[in-house]
Amino acid sequence: MGKRFDRLLFPNGAAKVFTLSYDDGVNQDKRLIRIFDRYKVKATFNLGYGVLGHKPEGPFDISKVEKEEVKDLYENHEIGGHGLYHSDLSSLGDPYMMYEIMEDKKELERLAGKPLKMFAYPFGLFNESVKQTLKKAGYKGARTVRSTYDFGLPEDPFELDPTCHHNDERLMELAERFVKERSMRPEMFYVWGHGYEFDRDGNWEVIEKLVSYMDENREGIWFATNGEILSYLEAYRSLEYSVDGSMIYNPTATDIWIATSFDTIEHLKAGNLTRIKETEL
Ligand SMILES: [Zn+2]
Repeated sequence: MGKRFDRLLFPNGAAKVFTLSYDDGVNQDKRLIRIFDRYKVKATFNLGYGVLGHKPEGPFDISKVEKEEVKDLYENHEIGGHGLYHSDLSSLGDPYMMYEIMEDKKELERLAGKPLKMFAYPFGLFNESVKQTLKKAGYKGARTVRSTYDFGLPEDPFELDPTCHHNDERLMELAERFVKERSMRPEMFYVWGHGYEFDRDGNWEVIEKLVSYMDENREGIWFATNGEILSYLEAYRSLEYSVDGSMIYNPTATDIWIATSFDTIEHLKAGNLTRIKETEL
């Protein structure tokens, strides 16, 4: 077949993906979702079922949405798990750690009407036992709070490191780099935070500026939830290649796009065998 540099592309041949992740299921998510929907960006919202509806007293409002609101509020986005009571899961004995994960997932799935794919570690804390339990619970990935300041895809989806927090002073510099960079690798720009921080810090304009900039530059970018990205990567890893590279079978229910050279895009349709054209030596 000659020299090839096959690489993953996202749906419709996009080379990049942008995603957001917001924790705790606070009431400010309502305003945040209005902004996200206006600019057609996608986010994953990580909720603790056991604290839904709680309205703690404090210096700023961190009250949680009601259980009855969850389904409709997050409909255009993704619901992820965040532990039943937001405990430090790495500090708990296994039985209780497993309960925090399982009970949260079971109840959120009942509200969402579908299996959950994504989790965010409370306080960003985890250990090997927590990771293994999340896998057995059926999760496909879990987010940390470690900034990469980079756009690489995760090596371990259970240590999914974001690019940066929305309060990072480099936020717009990274957004611009992401939009302008022409890379030979697939790239992901991943921003996270908490909705209540915009009220606390009086800086709603930060997120509006970011997502409006991404919307203006949406050419070649896939806007997806965390779970959609992980499912897509899983499908990509399932591709079956012939030894001579001329045939690729896509056994999944997901259409997949790859590049087989700098400017050749192949659309590998779900459940189909694709014959790859001979490339120049
Ligand atoms: Zn949290």
